[in-house]
Amino acid sequence: MSVLASGSKGNCTVITAAGTKILVDAGLSCREILRRMALAGEDPAELTAILITHEHLDHVAGLAVLARRLNVPVFFTEGTHRAWVRMTRPKQTMSYAKWLDMMQREKEARAVATANDHAPAHTVLALMAAGISAAAEPVDSEVDGLSSAESMEILAEAAVDPDEACEPAETKAAAKADPAFLPAVEYFRAGQHFSIGAIDVNPFTIPHDAADPCGFVFHARSESIRMAIATDLGYIPPNVKMALKNVDVLLLESNHDLEMLKDGPYPWSVKQRVLSRVGHLSNHAAAEFLLKDYDGGAHTIVLGHLSEHNNLPELAKLAAEQAVGNRMSLLGNKIVLALQESPLDPICL
Ligand SMILES: [Zn+2]
Ligand SMILES: [Zn+2]
Repeated sequence: MSVLASGSKGNCTVITAAGTKILVDAGLSCREILRRMALAGEDPAELTAILITHEHLDHVAGLAVLARRLNVPVFFTEGTHRAWVRMTRPKQTMSYAKWLDMMQREKEARAVATANDHAPAHTVLALMAAGISAAAEPVDSEVDGLSSAESMEILAEAAVDPDEACEPAETKAAAKADPAFLPAVEYFRAGQHFSIGAIDVNPFTIPHDAADPCGFVFHARSESIRMAIATDLGYIPPNVKMALKNVDVLLLESNHDLEMLKDGPYPWSVKQRVLSRVGHLSNHAAAEFLLKDYDGGAHTIVLGHLSEHNNLPELAKLAAEQAVGNRMSLLGNKIVLALQESPLDPICL
């Protein structure tokens, strides 16, 4: 596991086993993801797929350009894909003739992009639905507990377009016609296992204010090693506790310190959102899980999605260390903090 970034300004993690490499979320610009992959010694050309937890901007900011550039399939739940398409496409009402024309151009572009690679997406229906529901409500592109002004700042940065140079020439026209164009889309459902190459993926539902958010357990079949990602969740319900049994590496959210959040700079409404059952996990809630429900068997626990304004790395780490307590040893339960600004050293088992 290589955590390239974690936090409200972008999330991105690489999971690799036996020749299969999966990027979980693409919440930085394409350019920055490629830069961090290089720093972490990860070769983008080896990516098998991109897997998306949910459609919030800090998980998808660079997705479209990166997928087109690397020509890799993107795995979503149908609900997340629809929500992502809605927020990615400019809002406009479209005539039927114009829509038909767009579908035709998309089909042609996809044929070119996937000529010798992945099977075409089976998402025409979803695209159609998204295309005609152009009048649908815009999705609030919340980022962690950021105020909408701060979210807009990130959107504005994206509008300056750090990824202009990353967009491949072959897909420029298709991307212009439809910013949500992807070379291939695959759907999965929470609770239903599927495989990507040598890795079995178990997606589980998490309580968070997105369309159909998921966490994942990755199981490298050949090595019987399991790694899990569980961030962006308001609390830890029984299905998540079950999913997180017997994992060797756990990336767990430790978003905020309750006192810092209550006294911090966010407006009341945002504080309420972060604290809610569909917001983010506090240091206290993460520690409670580690104390009461965690089985103590992990090699490494990575604390992630730390709030920049409402947390301190030392507080998050201390809470987790106290919870794991005497189960910590040289061999296991190492607690590491994922960073926003730079990649972690890869965790290799
Ligand atoms: Zn989120
Ligand atoms: Zn997030």
